[in-house]
Amino acid sequence: MSTITVCARFRPLSSRERRDHGDSVCVQCLDTETFIFKDEKEENSTFSFDRVFYEESEQAQVYEFLALPIVRDAFNCVNGTIIAYGQTGAGKTYSMEGPGILESDEQRRGLLPRVVDGIFECIKSSEKAIKVSIKLSMVEIYMERVRDLFDLAKDNIQIKESKAQGIFLHGITEISITDPAEALQSLASGIANRAVGETRILPYFSQGHREILVIFVGVQQELKKDNRLKTGKLVLVDLAGSEKAEKTGAEGRVLEEAKSINKSLSVLGNVINALTSGSPGKINHIPYRDSKLTRILQDALGGNSRTALLCCCSPSASNAQESLSTLRFGARANHIKASPQVKCNEGKSAKKHVVPSPTKDETCERIL
Ligand code: ADP
Ligand code: MG
Repeated sequence: MSTITVCARFRPLSSRERRDHGDSVCVQCLDTETFIFKDEKEENSTFSFDRVFYEESEQAQVYEFLALPIVRDAFNCVNGTIIAYGQTGAGKTYSMEGPGILESDEQRRGLLPRVVDGIFECIKSSEKAIKVSIKLSMVEIYMERVRDLFDLAKDNIQIKESKAQGIFLHGITEISITDPAEALQSLASGIANRAVGETRILPYFSQGHREILVIFVGVQQELKKDNRLKTGKLVLVDLAGSEKAEKTGAEGRVLEEAKSINKSLSVLGNVINALTSGSPGKINHIPYRDSKLTRILQDALGGNSRTALLCCCSPSASNAQESLSTLRFGARANHIKASPQVKCNEGKSAKKHVVPSPTKDETCERIL
């Protein structure tokens, strides 16, 4: 089984799409995994993903299929990553955050607040005597700089690697949280910081479209019996819009800058290509180090973690070209086959396991 779960989500037609282009849609549902896509030349292709969420799909369904298994695995020492991909306006932020992170309408709440609730539900329902500490961090990647959204003075965080921690962000602020409301307040303050204190090179691009938002949730369990620790990390990524830089209407130097902002996404595509091409047994060079995003996600994409990719698309025929490029990106990612492994330390000996079988009551650390 592929450990990258790839889903497609089509949002409802927007009123602007209806007004300017009518009700013509490019997707015809076959079942919950397969659909026919009509491109701008009216040619049909069939796509299959682990799950397809159509216009009427609910936020809760997306959470239950895509995120809940990852949240549960974090309690079994398996790191998990959820990535939203797609052109600007395709529904990445709506899927991740909902209309707002503090949204109270249960139906509209996004993945992030549901993940927070899910973590605290896992703690409540745990049969073992455990003490759990949850830590939140939040960064934005813009023009290949990593900025701490909980401390704006830290505007060029370095990515480091150690044997014990694997890839980590040096000096990043970690906020300890003890209940869901507190977590949401912290997330809201970080999200609000995205707009503050930054002189964007491309000021006319609206905030949230050109940067990548990365949220880390660390789950550390202390088994009361013998004080041993188990750790799992969740990473949620709201990517920059995947549309081609030329489409933004920018020209000359500004266009070059817009292209450089897209670097993370093109390197992400290269990493996925490298992971999915080549012959079995042959080790391919994977260009993780070519962008900050792929370096941060190296563990996730490299196979020792659970990853879910949500490919967000407009259903409008007028956006068929960008939707097709998003779906092709998802189809390539769907070919990544890897088995996440956890290394569980029991006393001095370390055993390798293929997930989902980390042994109970052991100190676990991920193999990197
Ligand atoms: P992106 O983050 O990909 O640029 P947004 O998430 O901001 O796009 O979505 C663009 C618009 O579409 C927003 O007004 C959002 O509320 C709306 N939208 C996106 N997905 C859905 C959905 N599944 N249901 C209802 N409205 C949606
Ligand atoms: Mg967005």
